[in-house]
Amino acid sequence: SKLVTDVICPFCGTLCDDLEVEVSDDGKQILEVRNACAIGATKFLHSQASDRIIRPRMKQDDGTWKDISYAEAAKYTAKILCEAKKPLMYGWSSTSCEAQATGHMIAEQVGGIVDNTATVCHGPSLIAVHDVGIPSCTLGEVKNRADRIVFWGCNPAHAHPRHMSRYSIFPRGYFTGKGSKSRKIIVVDPRPTDTASLADYHIQIEQGRDYELLDALRVAFKNGPLPDVVAGVPKDKIYEVARLLKSGRFVTIFFGMGVTHSLGKNHNIDEAIAVTRDLNEYTKASIIPMRGHYNVTGSGQVLGWQFGFPFCVDLSRGFARYNPGETSSNDLLLRNEVDACFVLGSDPGSHFPNKSVQEIYKLPSVCIDPHITPTAAVSKCHVPVAFVGVEVGGSCYRMDNVPIESRKVVDPPAGMLTDDEFLKLVLAEVMTIKGAA
Ligand code: SF4
Repeated sequence: SKLVTDVICPFCGTLCDDLEVEVSDDGKQILEVRNACAIGATKFLHSQASDRIIRPRMKQDDGTWKDISYAEAAKYTAKILCEAKKPLMYGWSSTSCEAQATGHMIAEQVGGIVDNTATVCHGPSLIAVHDVGIPSCTLGEVKNRADRIVFWGCNPAHAHPRHMSRYSIFPRGYFTGKGSKSRKIIVVDPRPTDTASLADYHIQIEQGRDYELLDALRVAFKNGPLPDVVAGVPKDKIYEVARLLKSGRFVTIFFGMGVTHSLGKNHNIDEAIAVTRDLNEYTKASIIPMRGHYNVTGSGQVLGWQFGFPFCVDLSRGFARYNPGETSSNDLLLRNEVDACFVLGSDPGSHFPNKSVQEIYKLPSVCIDPHITPTAAVSKCHVPVAFVGVEVGGSCYRMDNVPIESRKVVDPPAGMLTDDEFLKLVLAEVMTIKGAA
């Protein structure tokens, strides 16, 4: 066997870059995954599943699947996208930036809507960043400098398991040589989570009252008057946390969907950014969203370079429009506004409301995904592809916007295409149809 080192984990936005994978001499089989957390290791081992779908397949009228070729799948995909007036092209968060860029070329040709998983995740954070900007930093700076860490509405112990050991709570950095003893950890969460159990302070906020507590912290920084209790938290505790944050040398606030998708949405993030700004009057402070899928940040980046907007990009009028609430996937699906659905590298069948999934089921649809997912089950065509970061490399962006090149570890099954290769076939078909029109 041989050992592949410095492997990138293509699962969550932490994008750990220290994995070691032992592979068989012929480079076809993964024998062991080292250094990854349980979720990351499972992703590598999933690629080895014996029941893996290795050929594209088309749903028949009786609901059974029939194997087809990649050429036939590309023809079908190009046809439904070209015939649709407003095709939705959703997902993009579990693939490489290269594949995203090819997909966007198709979207431009067919006048599609390109949206990524931020639409049900950190979209409100992106909107807040448009509003007020973001004082941020890299995870390396957090590891080396941060002595006050806040986790607000997120639970990395479950969602980003190695984040705490690599960057935020435990690692020994240049100015944080005593590891967790160098830092004070504050968790703001209505629930007693596993992350909260590691915290010095667990602020058990009332559900949906994030805006009030963030606002109260800003008052407390200036020693202003507060009511006895804000968002279920006694004022003495708020003053204490405010003093603790101000006394730090370097504060980092990590936040998750507990804030982005609770009452207030993007306004909560506006306020969290304002808290960070205020703190910079006393010390150095930064704020970082806990992005979920390993390359959702990359999808926002690539869309940003190409069209100027990070998600919900509507190209149906021949130029880029952006209006979350109108051009966002669920709003379009719930208003029956799209007439074809293309999904790559994500699973709306698991994450979207039932009514949206029912709408996808009714539409001409294609799901490009190595796994059999609920989305694949409701789609008309399922195209399995190589696992990015396992069977093919490609660029990805970590949650702190640092680009990292992922590595190929083993070969994909014989004859299997990568996302990018399949998208290039679709693009060629689209150009043929458009040329003929
Ligand atoms: Fe992979 Fe995330 Fe686990 Fe790191 S923390 S090994 S990136 S799943």
